[in-house]
Amino acid sequence: MSASQPPQSADVPTLLVKIFGKDRPGITAGLFDTLAAYSVDVVDIEQVVTRGRIVLCALVTEPPAGLEGDLRSTVHSWAESMKMQAEIISGIGDNRPRGLGRSLVTVLGHPLTSESTAAIAARITATGGNIDRIFRLAKYPVTAVEFAVSGTETEPLRTALALEAARLGVDVAVVAAGLHRRAQRLVVMDVDSTLIQDEVIELFAAHAGCEAEVAEVTAAAMRGELDFEQSLHARVELLAGLDASVVEKVRSEVRLTPGARTLIRTLKRLGYQVGVVSGGFTQVTDDLKERLGLDFAQANTLEIVDGKLTGKVTGEIVDRAGKARLLRRFATEAAVPLEQTVAIGDGANDLDMLNAAGLGVAFNAKPVVREAAHTAVNVPFLDTVLYLLGITREEVEAADTHAD
Ligand SMILES: [Mg+2]
Repeated sequence: MSASQPPQSADVPTLLVKIFGKDRPGITAGLFDTLAAYSVDVVDIEQVVTRGRIVLCALVTEPPAGLEGDLRSTVHSWAESMKMQAEIISGIGDNRPRGLGRSLVTVLGHPLTSESTAAIAARITATGGNIDRIFRLAKYPVTAVEFAVSGTETEPLRTALALEAARLGVDVAVVAAGLHRRAQRLVVMDVDSTLIQDEVIELFAAHAGCEAEVAEVTAAAMRGELDFEQSLHARVELLAGLDASVVEKVRSEVRLTPGARTLIRTLKRLGYQVGVVSGGFTQVTDDLKERLGLDFAQANTLEIVDGKLTGKVTGEIVDRAGKARLLRRFATEAAVPLEQTVAIGDGANDLDMLNAAGLGVAFNAKPVVREAAHTAVNVPFLDTVLYLLGITREEVEAADTHAD
């Protein structure tokens, strides 16, 4: 048999040995020690432990002629001595090969109900998908579970599950499985109401005493009476004459979204590059870049002359199209293909960026954004984005514990 040719085990008789009971040290060693006396080879092993109970499944080649009965009784007496249950099933070959079209489905619930789990699983089956494995990623701050699915294409599965998720009020992310998921990536976030809990223009407006006027312009923009650029100019104009010392005050008032530091710290440890793009102001995003160790930051710049805000912005305007353009620019600079980028945002002006990214995450977004994005997170913790990337809570915490 050449090394490049997998063994053809399809028609070889095999034994499936399943052990179930209270987990304790030595179960796996004990089972294989018992099997070793019969010169059987391992075809497959799967083991899970849930609340202290172990399920250990070993698929092995059949023993030499005449020894199967002996093997069965030896395994059963070993299991009995360990107060475990054993089941041994004769059969042919290995698992059937996984179907083509492999996806990873992450479900976030707060809590994750049985009803939601049943509905998601049924919908996967209805699209022709098979659930190959299920794995818990996190129990805090949300319950996150990952399903490995095969036999259906990622896009239709994503569409079907997005509808189901909206109906159930859980968050479901569907990504294509494969090596690219482990490749180095770039994450680009919106700032206002995504990385931070505030809208920066409102913080400035409070110091200028024009919150009501700013809110009015925002509302007009939301009604579609003004586009983003018009509303930006109209709102910034209201800040004219404000003392530049307010910039420092606004920086100190900004409140990070829960989980923001954990998300960024973990991504940086994994070698990701992280950036922000904002329709807000560089006076705040540059400070965030410095404080959080971000690789990229771009926003509009408030013009300051003689220590006063002029009510104008300078430089390239960061609007809806600008955000998508910056995602592409950052990706080029980071040497990360666009398919390996993740964009996170909450507003309509994030939509182009979310759609341009390999994975677009609508974070506590307005319905119009949620419906158009690949995936939506509706729990108020930014670090849940890590679970969508397949990173477990345990890995996050272990990395924190072992950090210098
Ligand atoms: Mg926003």
